[in-house]
Amino acid sequence: MEYMNAEIVEVKHLTLNTNSYLLRLENNKHFPYKAGQFVMLKANINGESVKRAYSIASPPPRDFKHAEYIELIIKLVPGGTFTPHIFSQKEGIIIQVAGPFGGLILKEPILEGDIFMATGSGIAPFMSMLRKVFRDHNPKEFFLFYGAKNSQEIIYREELEQWDKEHKNFHLIVSVSEEEKGWNGEVGYVQDKLKTYIKDFEGKQAYLCGLPIMVEQARQRLIDLGIKPVDIYLEEY
Ligand SMILES: Cc1cc2nc3c(=O)[nH]c(=O)nc-3n(C[C@H](O)[C@H](O)[C@H](O)COP(=O)(O)OP(=O)(O)OC[C@H]3O[C@@H](n4cnc5c(N)ncnc54)[C@H](O)[C@@H]3O)c2cc1C
Repeated sequence: MEYMNAEIVEVKHLTLNTNSYLLRLENNKHFPYKAGQFVMLKANINGESVKRAYSIASPPPRDFKHAEYIELIIKLVPGGTFTPHIFSQKEGIIIQVAGPFGGLILKEPILEGDIFMATGSGIAPFMSMLRKVFRDHNPKEFFLFYGAKNSQEIIYREELEQWDKEHKNFHLIVSVSEEEKGWNGEVGYVQDKLKTYIKDFEGKQAYLCGLPIMVEQARQRLIDLGIKPVDIYLEEY
C-alpha cells in the first residue's frame, strides 16, 4: 500500500466531538476517487504504526483543478488510539494517506426512491455522494435517514437542512435516540423509521453506513420490506 504525504490545510469543529479535516496531497498528486470511497491514514503513535480507515466526505472533483484536496469527517472515540492523536494535530502538519479504497460507491444516475441511511460519522460517505448528486442536479426523489444520539451530534446539520429546504425531491429524516426538549423531529432508532416515510420498497436500492447494529438491523428490515439483498450497499464502522 503506497502512502502519500498530505498536509492538513483546514480543521473545522463540526460538533463537540467531530472534526472535519481538509487534506491536500503533496507533490501535485491527484486523487481520483468515487463518491463513497475511503482512505487509510497512518501515524506513528507511541512507537507503533497505527492505520485507520476514513471515508471521503468531499465530492469527487469535477476536474483536476482541485483534485489534490479531500475532506474527512472524524469523530473522537474517547480511549481510542488514532482519533485522540489526530485531534491533537493542527493545520500545517503532514500526515500519511493511502487510497482510495472501498466498494460502497454511488451508483449513477441515482434511481427513483433511493434510500441512504447513516448513523453518526457514517454520514461521511453520503456527504460525498449527496454533494455530487446535488451538484449534478439529479431530479429523482430520494431519502436520507440519519440517526444521531442527540441534536448536538448531527453532523453538517445546516447543510443537510438547507438541501431539504431547497430540493423538493430530497427528504431528510433525522432521528435522535435520546429524548430531547425542543426537538421536533423523530425520536428513536433510525432503522425503525423506514415505513413511516416509504410505502413501497420494491425495486428500490439502499445505502447503509455507520454502527454495525444499525446496518445489520436496517439491512434485514429492508429485505423483509421487499428490497433485494443485491440492491443494498453497506459499510460498517
Ligand atoms: C471503511 C471504514 C470507514 C470509516 N470511516 C470513518 C469516518 O469517515 N469517520 C470516522 O470517524 N470513523 C470512520 N471509521 C472508523 C475508524 O476507522 C476508526 O475505527 C475510529 O476512528 C476509531 O479509531 P481509534 O483508533 O480512535 O479507536 P480504537 O483504538 O480503534 O478503538 C477504541 C475502542 O473504541 C471502540 N470504537 C471504535 N470505533 C468506535 C466508534 N465509532 N464509536 C464508538 N466506539 C468505537 C472500539 O471497539 C474499541 O473498543 C471507518 C471505519 C471503516 C472500516
